[in-house]
Amino acid sequence: MNQKYDIEQKFLNRTLQVGECIFQEGDKGDFAYIIDEGEVEISTITATNERIVLNVLQSGDMFGELALVDGSPRSASAYAKTNVVLTIVTSEQVKTRIEDADPILKLLLIVVMKYFRSETGRLRSNTQEVDLSSLETQKQEYQEKIFQAIELIRLESDLRSGFKQEQLHPFYQPIVDLKTNLIVGFEVLLRWFSPTRGNVSPSIFIPLAESTSLIIPMGEWLLDKALSAIDRIKKETNYDIFLSINVAEKQIHSPEFINILKEKIKVSGINPQQIKLEILERSLFEGETALSLVEDCRNFGLPLVIDDFGTGYANLAYLKNFQFDTLKIDQCFVKDLENNIKDQIICRTLIDLSHGLDMTAVAEGIENEEQLKILSSLKCNYGQGYFFSPPVSLEKAIDFIKQYSN
Ligand code: C2E
Ligand code: CA
Ligand code: CA
Repeated sequence: MNQKYDIEQKFLNRTLQVGECIFQEGDKGDFAYIIDEGEVEISTITATNERIVLNVLQSGDMFGELALVDGSPRSASAYAKTNVVLTIVTSEQVKTRIEDADPILKLLLIVVMKYFRSETGRLRSNTQEVDLSSLETQKQEYQEKIFQAIELIRLESDLRSGFKQEQLHPFYQPIVDLKTNLIVGFEVLLRWFSPTRGNVSPSIFIPLAESTSLIIPMGEWLLDKALSAIDRIKKETNYDIFLSINVAEKQIHSPEFINILKEKIKVSGINPQQIKLEILERSLFEGETALSLVEDCRNFGLPLVIDDFGTGYANLAYLKNFQFDTLKIDQCFVKDLENNIKDQIICRTLIDLSHGLDMTAVAEGIENEEQLKILSSLKCNYGQGYFFSPPVSLEKAIDFIKQYSN
């Protein structure tokens, strides 16, 4: 049996007797503990071999959690001061939660935990010689983490105010029918032009918007913009194009999202077929909610695109359980397509798979004519990429349609 299992067994379902050791300074920290009954004494040994008590904890208190957060050995010892009953919290339980936590929260948690640890150290070192060099590295580490957390907080508040001040703009990247070479639609991609930061990439601000729920109002605003863009394109070019909108995981899991979406589309009078929802493969991981959203969208007539397919789990069960209209081949399979036989095989397989399952295939990130030729010969339905055009403003998008349709 491994040591961890032994420790777990040692405390499980039994009362610890007065004086019994729970862990000692320097032990590996795999568990945190919650006191169900009794009292626990946290203590440390000074340089002069004296045991000093740092704290006495009672029922409901948690201890030992510091080691779970930063993986370092126990900085103090814990003994049962009376008979004690404990609940064990495993590192797995805490670790995945911390890993999944909001990035700002995670950084702050680490900073706070480190602060507590250094306070324990300070108490102990009252009679000990202080190792200045280790304090200095610790300080640098804090500063770096604090700096990162502050930077994220600043970025988030800039994003919030930038959103209110209309610094965000939808851009439109043409999606071309590879048989006719005509533009049939556009993917809507957000751009943030910050007066102080310049152009901030959506791969930076979208995850931040998602971690703070700003993505919900942002997504609604984007939908309004998209619906009015379809209207304007129709008026200026007489073309009924579709717009493909990226849907973040948070939106999929928001119960109002689909209702607001349906309501806005109904009010606009636009055919639901003209709004395609791009859903990342990894967003589907959560199962039930995603399944009902997908069904709801399809019943309403909204086409669904599975985005970046093949870069997540490439879980074929998604294709079996959810009915998508389009499979989007990620640009990582396209960027070296002309030189790499494996990419060619992957693209062919994904295109055949799409057609076999009654879906169309769209390849993104097409940058040159060779890539386009290969994809056309593989009967890929649609293409998107810098070879045709980067994402552009609505005005430019309208000019493109006028040019291409003549
Ligand atoms: P995505 O959905 O995979 O979007 C495609 C990305 O590829 C876009 O990056 C696009 O500008 C870029 N791209 C297009 N053609 C080419 C090409 O030929 N070569 C190369 N190298 N890249 C090309 P972008 O605009 O920086 O967006 C990054 C990601 O941010 C998007 O990836 C999407 O996941 C997310 N995103 C952008 N706008 C939104 C939005 O409104 N809502 C949500 N939820 N996510 C968005
Ligand atoms: Ca996309
Ligand atoms: Ca993509």
